This record gives sequence, C-alpha cells and structure tokens, in this order.
Amino acid sequence: MEIKITLNKNLKPKPDENTLVFGQTFTNHMFVMDYNEENGWHNAQILPYGNIQLDPASMILHYGQEVFEGMKAYRSEQGNIMLFRPEKNFERLNTSNDRLCIPKLDEEFCLEALIKLLELDKDWVPHLPGTSLYIRPFIIATQKGLGVHPAKEYKFLIICCPVGSYYKEGLNPVKIYVEDEYVRAVKGGTGFIKSGGNYAASLKGQEKAEKMNYSQVLWLDGKERKYIEEVGAMNVFFKIDGKVVTPSLEGSILPGITRRSTIELLKSWNIPVEERKISIDELITAYNENKLEEAFGTGTAAVISPIGEFNYQNKVMVVNNNQIGELSQKLYDTLTGIQWGKLKDNFGWVKKLDF
Ligand SMILES: *Cc1c(COP(=O)(O)O)cnc(C)c1O
Repeated sequence: MEIKITLNKNLKPKPDENTLVFGQTFTNHMFVMDYNEENGWHNAQILPYGNIQLDPASMILHYGQEVFEGMKAYRSEQGNIMLFRPEKNFERLNTSNDRLCIPKLDEEFCLEALIKLLELDKDWVPHLPGTSLYIRPFIIATQKGLGVHPAKEYKFLIICCPVGSYYKEGLNPVKIYVEDEYVRAVKGGTGFIKSGGNYAASLKGQEKAEKMNYSQVLWLDGKERKYIEEVGAMNVFFKIDGKVVTPSLEGSILPGITRRSTIELLKSWNIPVEERKISIDELITAYNENKLEEAFGTGTAAVISPIGEFNYQNKVMVVNNNQIGELSQKLYDTLTGIQWGKLKDNFGWVKKLDF
C-alpha cells in the first residue's frame, strides 16, 4: 500500500533535550490509516501532527474499543537510529486487536509505515545519553452509533514524542504498594493486551498507592488476591536464593517484550529463571528468611526498575537495603547497552535504520 505524505509546513522547534518530559511534546508528523468494511485498512497517510475529528457518537468514546503499543527509537553514538524488537510490538498489537474484535493489521506494513514516519521526523530522535523517541501506535473505533457491537470503522495512528532519561541520577529503587483490594485484570478478561481500559481500571489503586507515598502498585490476582501479577506498566521479577522468579503468563498479565528479553538474557548467562505462579506469602517467607535478594520491574519506559521496598498490609519489606542489586544493574546495563548500540547484539534484537 502506498503512503501519501503531506509535509508539515509549520515545523515546531525541537524541545531542549535536557528538559524532556515524558509524553508532552510530539513530533511534526503522525501516521494515520483508516478501516472500513468495503476497503479494509486503507488511506495510509503521513500528516502534520494535529487534532483528529470524531463524531460525538464514535464508538471509542462510549465502549472503549481501543488498543495501543509502546516502543522506542534509540540513537547510537554513531548517530544511527535503532529500534528494539519492533516486530514483536506489531505482533502484540494484533493479539490485542484479536481480543477486542478489531481487524488485524499487516504487521510488516506497520513497521514500514513507522520507519517512513521516523525518516521524516528523524531529527527528533534525541542525542543525549539515556534519551529516546517514544513511539505510540494505537487504534480507535471511529464508527458512529450507540449500541454495543464491534465497530465497522477504525483509525490506526502512530504518534511519537522525545523522552528524557528515565533515571536522571542513575538507577533509583522504587517503592511499591501491594494492592489487596482493587484488581487490575482477571483470566479471561483483557489483562494480557494493551488497551486503555486496563489502565482506567488501574487508576483507583494507583491513586491510593500515591496517597501513601508509594510510586506504583503491585497487583495481585483477581480471584484470590494471592498470586503476584505485575507492577503498573511493568512485569516483575524476584531474585530469591540465587534463582530468578517471574509470574507465568496465565492470561491476566501483559507479555512484556522487556520481560521476554530479560528471561532470554538470564538464560544466556546460565542464571536459573522460573516462570511460575508466585504468591505474596512466598515472597514474605523469602523476605523473612533473608532470601529475597533483589526485585525489579521490566518495561519499555524504564527498562529495568529496581524495587527497594514493598508494603503489603502495612508490613514493610526493604529489599537489598534499598540499593540496586548486582543482577538488576547488570540487566539494565546489558539491555540499554544493546538498545543504544554500545554492546554487541548477539540476539539480533536491534533493527538499525539506514537514515
Ligand atoms: C506495556 C506493559 C508492560 C511492559 O511491556 P514491554 O513490552 O516490556 O514494554 C507491562 N505491563 C503492562 C500492563 C503494560 O501495559
């Protein structure tokens, strides 16, 4: 499919790379494509970044049929722009589509469209260490009409924003509140896909955690509030007695690409890693026996986020003296090293763009 390009004639100045705020400033262009029954996905365009028009009865506004992705473009020291396992994001977008009855996209074409967009806005991929361009592909149901059924019209968009280093003063351990009242997702629901509704459902718990001075929520399973699921927008890992444990994907947890890459790295280092159910009680027992050595979250935004403290029912557990663990640091250094092209990419994870 051809992509029609309309260049932005009112180019915005690029923001100061030293003071980039996550998700606030967007680049000069966006990718847009439409779906209807007659033409399938069609009308692929790159347009000046700007407002979109929606009928007030558009189904997205009433029934929340929306999916999204989150990925980054990194600039290497040599000046190249690189993507990290981008095909996995578009594969996951189609998994999300399937769950919400949204017509599938051609994954290869999506990547092609993204690369075209990045070529136009290439100067917006920042240069300072630790900075990157965050990429947000998403789909909304645009068909007009009230009544609950899968929409017959959609829009797919890609927008991008330069983002600063997640850690201004090096890796900082975060404080986590273990939520035992609200739940994020249940098996059979939509916890395994990236959809706005999952985040809407998480706000109440997140707000509660923030009021108690915790930065994020650790979710427990929706049925028994017993098994550990994940943290905010991150998967979670524990190092217990020399072994690494992460909750298995049972249908309510988001299958993170950073999670998968972390598991693959650990295996390549011959560090035992188990994907299985882990209960909050097991975590407490490990902590009480001094066997909880490290805990960290994984996700595109922070890559590896060490956890320094858990609060479960007012019991506070401080992990590794609130210091970054050796393994967390090694994983962070390796993953970011590969992403920014400083380390050899033995896994073939990085896609180097040629502009
Ligand atoms: C995106 C996301 C993650 C992390 O996935 P990555 O592919 O590693 O960025 C984890 N949990 C939730 C709920 C998410 O939305």
